[in-house]
Amino acid sequence: MSLASLNPQQFQAATTIEGPLLIIAGAGSGKTGVITHRIAYMLEQGIAQSHILALTFTNKAADEMAHRIKKMTGRKLSNLTIATFHAFGVKVLREQARAIGYRDGFTIYDSSDRRDVIKESARELGMILEHEDLLDLEHLFGQIKSGMVDLATQSKGIIQLFQEYQEFLQLKNAFDFDDLVARPLELFRTHPEILQSYQQRYQYIMVDEFQDTSLQQYQLIQLLASAHANLCVVGDDDQSIYSWRGANYTNIQAFETDFPQRMEIKLERNYRSTGVILEAANALIANNTNRKEKELWTESTTAEASLQVRYLENDQAESEFICDTVRTLRVSEHRGYDHFGVLSRNNSLMDAIEEAFIRHDIPYRRSGGRSFFERKEIKDTIAYMRLADNPDDDIAFVRIINTPRRGVGKQSLATLREHSDDRKEALYYTAKRLLGWSDPPFPKPTIAGLTYFIDTMEQFRQRFTTNKEMARTAGDMMVALDYWGYLVREYPDNEKAAKWKYDNIFTFLGWFERWEKNPDNLEPKLSTYLTRIALAGRERSGDDEERAVSLMTIHAAKGLEFDVTFIAGVEDGILPSLRSLQEDEANMEEERRLFYVALTRAREKLFMTVCAQRKIQRELQICTPSPFLSELPSALIETEEQAPTPEDVERVAMSVFTMFKDNS
Ligand code: ATP
Ligand code: MG
Repeated sequence: MSLASLNPQQFQAATTIEGPLLIIAGAGSGKTGVITHRIAYMLEQGIAQSHILALTFTNKAADEMAHRIKKMTGRKLSNLTIATFHAFGVKVLREQARAIGYRDGFTIYDSSDRRDVIKESARELGMILEHEDLLDLEHLFGQIKSGMVDLATQSKGIIQLFQEYQEFLQLKNAFDFDDLVARPLELFRTHPEILQSYQQRYQYIMVDEFQDTSLQQYQLIQLLASAHANLCVVGDDDQSIYSWRGANYTNIQAFETDFPQRMEIKLERNYRSTGVILEAANALIANNTNRKEKELWTESTTAEASLQVRYLENDQAESEFICDTVRTLRVSEHRGYDHFGVLSRNNSLMDAIEEAFIRHDIPYRRSGGRSFFERKEIKDTIAYMRLADNPDDDIAFVRIINTPRRGVGKQSLATLREHSDDRKEALYYTAKRLLGWSDPPFPKPTIAGLTYFIDTMEQFRQRFTTNKEMARTAGDMMVALDYWGYLVREYPDNEKAAKWKYDNIFTFLGWFERWEKNPDNLEPKLSTYLTRIALAGRERSGDDEERAVSLMTIHAAKGLEFDVTFIAGVEDGILPSLRSLQEDEANMEEERRLFYVALTRAREKLFMTVCAQRKIQRELQICTPSPFLSELPSALIETEEQAPTPEDVERVAMSVFTMFKDNS
């Protein structure tokens, strides 16, 4: 897309580079495209790369933007700053760490590091915290840092703990995630000379997804831009989906007040979606009262266009439907895997879908939430299975040798390493060999722990070689190793967390069993399954030609588009979420915006799936369709099955009830 391909409004937006500019426009109208064209245009006008700053919401969006500009201009972009707010914050902090009493080379703490520091601070002050307190405090501290809660309104104990926490962070030369925006802001406010140098550097600033910037993020760019006022913000109030995180589309109003000389440009033509999809999305969002009225139109029509709702028996049928459809359309319509996207409101819903992709051998990439296979308990289980399959696997060995704890600390591991290096022998075999000595070079408890470990593993390795009942063998192995006992000790005050993790293991093994027992499976061997998991969904960095279906949360899909889009779990209590149902209308409007974001990702085909029942947190639940579905004009929607009547729901409820009774 060159400047010539832009429509008049887009062209004006791309070439008006001086002064404040506000572009509030609907989904798929080319907002992000305008930013990339603007930057290309600036470079053509001879503006130095170092004077340009573009802020986006995700790393993926930042990369994509840089990629496009490179293609358009054919230049190397070594001095251009296109970053997320957090990445930009890190850059500033790296340059200015000393100004706020930090040393160079600081670290960034994630959520679990952060809880550790809270725990440590509490211990220092002689406070005792339960696991739940820790979660609450983590949340509260985040809100304090991002300016949503005033520290001064807190109790004396909290204030003290917060200060202790801050001191600890500084002592460890670490910032937490919220600091990455809060601290640069504070720095700019308290050091006018530093602010000035950044204002001189970044004379042209652009912000994408402006509706989702937090108050602090807005304040940060407002300060930076106040010298030159060359600030262009683009966004869509209908796509504001982060109000729970302090993002606030009143920022749009703040911008209007702070930059009264601004120019406003409207983009009303949607270039992304076909008529049916756009019409449905427009009808849905019209139900929100708190919004800027917008008209979006499209010229796009294609024979391939469709908007479907599928009613399915359960989540297993849902995953099967999605996989089948991907496979069929890939062949019948010659579409690459990367043209498909599967979205869901909750990351957890994606676990069963991910499993089906693995089972069907469909390449996928999961983002915007942790993959099921990245959970610690699953990685541990896989490591045990790997070790049973291949004792030479030192990485798996190191991962689990002390999980559950069996007295193999740093020292014993170092001893093992030494002896294994000597002979270039795997750690597993070294352990086995050393235990055969009359006086093994380990402390007594370690000898006992290691002996039990090796004996158990030997026994299960034997069982796995038969290639029969492997999932069951793996389950027995986890029981014999007392992984449950380990979880209980890890979560002493929280049996629910332990139980949940243990259940995850057996969910995983259930999938393994289904794969193992599938009559079409020509090679039901442990190593085959392990290879499958290892290769599935692996993000192959640097190789963006790699084609895969995207699985992600709706939140993570913002700004992206897919020819064929699936929205799974369009059910009451999921979309809208249960939490928002219990709360007020404002939350319902936010959920509706979320659904709007999901609908507007689709270019040609959109499939929404609704299940009659699904497993939620290991419990079978009866589901009803999302009330938002009835806000879509029914004439636009194709369904193969009838939408369930209240009697149908009743019938399913009864059958589940009988099933439970039979089980008890
Ligand atoms: P969102 O609100 O979802 O972030 P957006 O407003 O940022 O969407 P873009 O992602 O920039 O929209 O563009 C949507 C699609 O429309 C892209 O595929 C883009 O290439 C295409 N497009 C935008 N403008 C034009 C144009 N003038 N001619 C042809 N295609 C265009
Ligand atoms: Mg965009």
